[in-house]
Amino acid sequence: MNRKILRYYHPSLRKKAQKTETGEKTDKIIETMKKTLCEEGGVGLAAPQIGVLERIIVIDLGQQVDVFLNPEIIERSEETIQSKEGCLSLKGVWLDVTRSKKIRVKALTREGEEIEVEAEGLLAVVFQHEIDHLNGKLFIDRVSFLTKARAFLSYFFKRND
Ligand code: ZN
Repeated sequence: MNRKILRYYHPSLRKKAQKTETGEKTDKIIETMKKTLCEEGGVGLAAPQIGVLERIIVIDLGQQVDVFLNPEIIERSEETIQSKEGCLSLKGVWLDVTRSKKIRVKALTREGEEIEVEAEGLLAVVFQHEIDHLNGKLFIDRVSFLTKARAFLSYFFKRND
């Protein structure tokens, strides 16, 4: 399995990931994702970022690494939050993205137990960013054309941040 993180132009990052199932194969993917996230030092990673088109995300806000299979947003607040987002598939680019402030997520644990999580603030942002990856969407799709163009210019010509 490829442990390298795919860059934003890779076609796999634009595909919709399939539902996953618990089991040995999924456990292996999860272990690879955890190691990759730890090495790269991000707050979240989605399986398509390592070339696996399955609905698996891992989140690490500093305390522990949480794993969610087939995560789905079942409720979202009208209130939004704007924060600077980055992505391991597009390193060095930080953009203000507007997301729902509070969400409720339904998912399976790696043991197959169905859970619901209420997330707010940073956790809500990370969930929305990672679930976007499962649907072939990147954070740069959620900003204006101008903001995106500026970000790419600095990404290609400066590369110093
Ligand atoms: Zn990302």
